[in-house]
Amino acid sequence: MGDGAERLDLILMGPPGAGKGTQSAMLTERLRVPCISTGHIFREEVRRKSPLGLEAKRHMDKGELVPDDVIMRILEERLQQPDCAPGFILDGVPRTMPQAEWLDRALAALGRHLDLVVRLVVPDEELIKRLSGRRTCRECGAMYHIIFDPPTNEGICNRCNGDLYQRDDDHEDIIASRLEVYARETAPIFQYYRARDLLAEVDGTGSRDDILARIVERVERVEQHA
Ligand code: AMP
Repeated sequence: MGDGAERLDLILMGPPGAGKGTQSAMLTERLRVPCISTGHIFREEVRRKSPLGLEAKRHMDKGELVPDDVIMRILEERLQQPDCAPGFILDGVPRTMPQAEWLDRALAALGRHLDLVVRLVVPDEELIKRLSGRRTCRECGAMYHIIFDPPTNEGICNRCNGDLYQRDDDHEDIIASRLEVYARETAPIFQYYRARDLLAEVDGTGSRDDILARIVERVERVEQHA
């Protein structure tokens, strides 16, 4: 793929609640490339009460974005790990134009470039329903929904028996600010990728398997043209 190597550098974008976490977990197995979720990295750091976690938490709890320089620092290091050699799936990043522009420069410096940007499209009413009922595993990050996708045993992760909790930023007052921040800071990035013919808009409603099939179909199209 890109650069003549068999590599897939993919971004999964979409508003909070679009299913990026669920889809990137499924895609990572299917495509055999790691998923890099900045949100997940921050939640881990918050749990460890590290200085990075404490800084990120101040922003996350208000539904605001963590500053660009923090994101760049994390990605700079993460993209150079050996497991990223065959490609990666970025989940929840970039979220601002400066992050998107920086990412292009950082990839170019590593001799690689983006192959595809998938945008999951989901109506706002559906996002609010999904986010307000979402429960996340403290241990492995797996996600459930109290109505649409409940765990077998209430409050316990099916995969690892970890404790399920409601993320602080999944409370209704914070959801509204996250959607606002998304519309203001993140949505303008689509035009940047569309202009370079990298953007695939995918319907993010329906079953998780149907959504996955739509994404894989777009990935295969890129692979065929490589
Ligand atoms: P997520 O799990 O992707 O919804 O991210 C949770 C929170 O982490 C976001 O609401 C932001 O506060 C922060 N965050 C994650 N990724 C980024 C990013 N690329 N830029 C800025 N903030 C981020």
